[in-house]
Amino acid sequence: MNPDIIAKLNKEFEKKSTQEILGFFIRKHHGRITLANSMGAEDQVLTDMIMGIDKSVPVFTLDTGRMFPETYDLIATTNEHYGTRLKVFFPENTRVEEMVNSLGINLFYDRVENRKLCCHIRKIEPLKRALEGMDVWITGLRREQSITRLAIGVVEWDEGNGLIKLNPLADWTEQQVWEYVMLHKVPVHSLHDKGFPSIGCQPCTRAVKTGEDVRSGRWWWENPESKECGLHNKPTNN
Ligand code: SF4
Repeated sequence: MNPDIIAKLNKEFEKKSTQEILGFFIRKHHGRITLANSMGAEDQVLTDMIMGIDKSVPVFTLDTGRMFPETYDLIATTNEHYGTRLKVFFPENTRVEEMVNSLGINLFYDRVENRKLCCHIRKIEPLKRALEGMDVWITGLRREQSITRLAIGVVEWDEGNGLIKLNPLADWTEQQVWEYVMLHKVPVHSLHDKGFPSIGCQPCTRAVKTGEDVRSGRWWWENPESKECGLHNKPTNN
């Protein structure tokens, strides 16, 4: 998409509320817009907002096969709470078998390349299937989450997947997220209370100390600059 159009959209939404932005895109791209929910607090906030606007908007999550047990509990609770069924996408079993049998069950600790391969097979490929036929995918990214996210726009063109990426919480603070959760009684991951601000796969996520970067518990053995799984590492226009 032309960068000027993306810039124009970002300008247009500067003063709009998150619900207004979501409402605009849901109406304009009805049937071709989806929310990627990684089961973190931000995505649960967006799920709550979207369910309040239009319950027919598909919400999906990726089951990498290495999730925390609590994540599965939250998927079930969310379905029950909103009377919906999150769509779950899984990796291709043959690709996982080939990778694990050649590089080891915990290959990701050995080299950054292995970690990226694992993220590619368990996350990127299923994401591509989840986004097939869509015009827009919605994410819960926030700028203050990490140095890799400082430049994200509310509206971006996702060149890799060929569709609009909408980050309606881009300028939200962590406090705003939690105020919304409390006010609207949004179901959230039980590990947030145990020092996990960002939830990912079990072997690649650990608790962080107060004051630490919220993403510092993800792939903690790597440099901060390399710490994206590939789902979100290429904002192209904003
Ligand atoms: Fe694999 Fe870890 Fe990436 Fe999950 S976060 S897909 S376990 S490397």
